[in-house]
Amino acid sequence: MNVVELIIKKRNGLHFTREEIFFFIDSFTSGKIPDYQFSALLMAICIKGMDKKETSYLTEAMLYSGKVINLDKIKGSKIDKHSTGGVGDKTSLILAPIVASVGVNVPMISGRGLGHTGGTLDKLDSIPGFRTNLNLADYKNVLRKCGTVLIGQTKEIAPADKLIYQLRDVTGTVESMPLINGSIMSKKLAEGIDGLVLDVKTGSGAMMRKTSDAVSLAKLLISTAKSFNIKVIVFITDMNQPLGNYIGNWLEVKESIKVLKGETDGDLLKLSLSLAGAMIYLGGKAYSINEGKELAKQQIKNGAAFNKFLEVVNLQGGKTKFILNPEKYPKPKFVKKVRAERGGFLQAFDNHEIGMASLELGAGRKTLKDKIDPKAGIIIKKKIGDRVKKSEIIAELHSDSELKIKIAGKMILNSISYSNKKVTVPRLIKKIII
Ligand code: URA
Repeated sequence: MNVVELIIKKRNGLHFTREEIFFFIDSFTSGKIPDYQFSALLMAICIKGMDKKETSYLTEAMLYSGKVINLDKIKGSKIDKHSTGGVGDKTSLILAPIVASVGVNVPMISGRGLGHTGGTLDKLDSIPGFRTNLNLADYKNVLRKCGTVLIGQTKEIAPADKLIYQLRDVTGTVESMPLINGSIMSKKLAEGIDGLVLDVKTGSGAMMRKTSDAVSLAKLLISTAKSFNIKVIVFITDMNQPLGNYIGNWLEVKESIKVLKGETDGDLLKLSLSLAGAMIYLGGKAYSINEGKELAKQQIKNGAAFNKFLEVVNLQGGKTKFILNPEKYPKPKFVKKVRAERGGFLQAFDNHEIGMASLELGAGRKTLKDKIDPKAGIIIKKKIGDRVKKSEIIAELHSDSELKIKIAGKMILNSISYSNKKVTVPRLIKKIII
């Protein structure tokens, strides 16, 4: 088989066979197809799409590029959650310890930042010492000991996704339903789970801007999960504004700590409780999502969720002194305030642009070689519906570069619009599909 011919085939809108899909996934994973050719292939898939059969073969080929972990020897249900990605979406860091603290195992394989969206792995990497590259034996050991484990794709687990994900991030090929489905489901199916809660984002900061596209992606993910006998619940949730207030890797760990310690409320807590409720329900520790939610609340209140976070950070080599005292973390050279250019009610964010501003500050990658600055990011001080006075602080920018702060500050100002009239806040949870 010839890669150039496959690129042309997809460019002409034709369908791949199972053999062709397995050929290009296996060849790319084993280094036989160079990045430039695979990028062209990804772009053709992004533009021309894939039908149901191709999408299912792609997921299968990506899944079997590595091992499917067998967790049968670990007692209890194994439930995970995955999001299609957003700005300020740090719920994985909150859910894993909450849900593990009630006795449901949460084995989690996550990805890095993708396009304008952040990634759980980059957030975990901001914790000094934290190891996200555990081998299979250590993965099982940590899970057995504390009920959760948080790692990235490895040479053994979903290696095709690791490579393709990196390339998509820097080639404008993120927003593609078959590629997103293959990426998410290959990682998740490899984990050895019984159930999965999916958070499909919609809005200006999401990969699926329109709710109808988010629902289509949700249906695709559900049919893939069911074909592998995995229980699944999908949430369609709002991404028209950052989730919570902190964006950027360490800043997001810091905000997650606040949630786990019961020190904050708002949309981040609300969504985390609902997703945790669904995971606990799927894991058989509650009779309904609502009952699961109440249990999750309790685990925050009685300190069990935060203690579980400390336990997993410690087991994976992270320095818990920064979790116990986040103020000890190294500070960025510059922290600058962004002030409103006019007054009114905050009507909308261009949330994609907010994600790009955080990337500009150093919280994400523009090329494969870019290094992330874990301290870089944004603290949003106002959300949709808030009344804002002229010159009031709307955001705080963290970076080691004054120039980057200047550029990001402008991007933020351009991404916010105001209204003279009161504004309706977008509904956070738009749909739950079981
Ligand atoms: N999350 C993933 O793991 N992959 C995607 O493609 C999008 C979100």
